[in-house]
Amino acid sequence: MYLKRVELQGFKSFADKSVIEFEPGVTGIVGPNGCGKSNITDAIRWVLGEKSAKAMRGDTMTDVIFSGSEDRKPLNMAEVTLVFDNEDHYLDNDSNEVEITRRIYRDGGDAEYYINRQQCRLKDITDLVMDTGLGRDSLSIISQNSINAFVQSKPEERRGMFEEAAGVARYKQRKKESVAK
Ligand code: ATP
Ligand code: MG
Repeated sequence: MYLKRVELQGFKSFADKSVIEFEPGVTGIVGPNGCGKSNITDAIRWVLGEKSAKAMRGDTMTDVIFSGSEDRKPLNMAEVTLVFDNEDHYLDNDSNEVEITRRIYRDGGDAEYYINRQQCRLKDITDLVMDTGLGRDSLSIISQNSINAFVQSKPEERRGMFEEAAGVARYKQRKKESVAK
């Protein structure tokens, strides 16, 4: 399983539909300051269920929608799709390619989520990626300030990171759900 493609439309600086293809292995994204490199990792975390506007470097979640430029009006919708190669069926889904989409409208309404173009709940996405190393809080994306956060975190928080990395978060979540029922 690997991230094959990211498609962005109306997300932050990506006003027009942009398709970014990745190959297996290591990819470097380079470019001048402010050209949109971090916006790409923001987009990936956003689709995987990031709920904090602050973590998206905004005040409210609608701040991820293209806010206009000198020669362009703001847009009303942002949509990002992640396409994973799933030939090894590492993700628990029968398809060889799994597309996960999140969409948000400026004039309200909750975010919409889709798996392979079928509308779903955020929980379906969280369940799909839990313990795969891809989750919202996973260590697959380490942002500039997260090393500090790791060093300064409380022991229980740090334990949570190890649990995610070790793949036991899924079982803890299921236990919590069954105890709650
Ligand atoms: P650096 O090398 O400094 O880390 P970067 O390539 O990571 O830069 P980003 O932080 O990804 O840059 O992009 C910042 C740019 O994205 C800024 O020009 C900012 O105006 C633009 N931007 C962020 N949010 C929006 C939005 N909602 N609408 C339009 N542009 C946006
Ligand atoms: Mg950056």
